[in-house]
Amino acid sequence: MTKVFESDRSAGFGTQAIHAGQRPEPLAGAIMTPVYLTSTYVQDALGENKGYEYARGKNPTREALERNVAILEGGTHGFAFASGVGATDTIMKLLKSGDHVVCGENVYGGTFRLIDRVLKNFGITFTFVDTRNSQGISDAVSTATRLIWVETPTNPLMRLTDLEAAGQIARKAGALLVVDNTFASPFFQRPLALGADLVMHSTTKYLNGHSDMIGGMVVTNRDDLAVQMQFLQNTGGAVPGPMDCFLALRGTKTLHLRMPRHDENGRAVAAWLAKRWGHERVIYPGLESHPQHALAKKQMSGFGGMISVETGSKANAKHVLDRMKVFSLAESLGGVESLISHPASMTHGSVPADVKAKMGLTDGLIRLSCGVEDVADLIADLDQAFAGL
Ligand SMILES: *Cc1c(COP(=O)(O)O)cnc(C)c1O
Repeated sequence: MTKVFESDRSAGFGTQAIHAGQRPEPLAGAIMTPVYLTSTYVQDALGENKGYEYARGKNPTREALERNVAILEGGTHGFAFASGVGATDTIMKLLKSGDHVVCGENVYGGTFRLIDRVLKNFGITFTFVDTRNSQGISDAVSTATRLIWVETPTNPLMRLTDLEAAGQIARKAGALLVVDNTFASPFFQRPLALGADLVMHSTTKYLNGHSDMIGGMVVTNRDDLAVQMQFLQNTGGAVPGPMDCFLALRGTKTLHLRMPRHDENGRAVAAWLAKRWGHERVIYPGLESHPQHALAKKQMSGFGGMISVETGSKANAKHVLDRMKVFSLAESLGGVESLISHPASMTHGSVPADVKAKMGLTDGLIRLSCGVEDVADLIADLDQAFAGL
């Protein structure tokens, strides 16, 4: 099981991002963790090995990534997966038939699809609630509730959950609090310190940061959950290849350099949009006009580069999307390059229309992932795309 090196704990975030979980390679002293392209490991004698038997169970490149992200999240154990959705699927296997889950109504489209189209068929029940309201979470809890799943800030409506309150509700209910921390990254938000039992990531996004792999991660600071997650990781087998782990690990080395720039660009672009298009139409937790700005300041140390804008209609959204030049029209987020998307038809295409309407996800909504380019170019791009609206 991939447990962190205790010696990595005392360093600052940037030092941890670069070094945590890694040791020079023993054969030649290579400073970079090698990509261990192997499926199996030679055993010294029957029943004697170096701790590695078969690569679904353990791979040294994967372990370096698992330790690194576990430390960044303030956890003790990390588990890497082939995708964020693979991480989610594996967490859900902690449940059994008869269990109940309280889930945020505005979670990632793929999380909703997994629940709605697959997990519901296994005798697990789900109640979707607006997790902005802690009372709503607590009211949905029953004696069968085993897990509370929240995403904060949410994709794409940038709604926040009070993690401390959610943690208290989970403890009182004897349920696990799982937080999808993909949007904030551990640089801006550390859910384990606020009461979460498991943190989940799509490493595809900010952790990798360069849009060149798909991956997921689960971190915990509970030994009992670590034992179960390790069992499920090996048993379900949704593990990432070593090359993808290497790329994610290369990405986390600059997380502390990239996130402040995403944040700086996000704030500047949100402020420009609010002035050009109206405060009420720009959804960014860093804007004072965001209804949960105070909570954002309390539980996050920055707001990142994700902004949603209500253009008012699908035609207006298309007007903007078709004209963007620096921002590329694409799904995904969190990379160094700026992306723009239409959540209703892209990331949330699998969410039924009535569910979208209920949560306020309209056809006029566009979502921006501000990269780390020069902000003047990002604003000039939006200026020319909004012209005529
Ligand atoms: C992308 C994403 C996921 C799913 O991750 P994949 O790596 O695409 O499988 C889950 N949650 C959030 C918030 C995401 O943005």
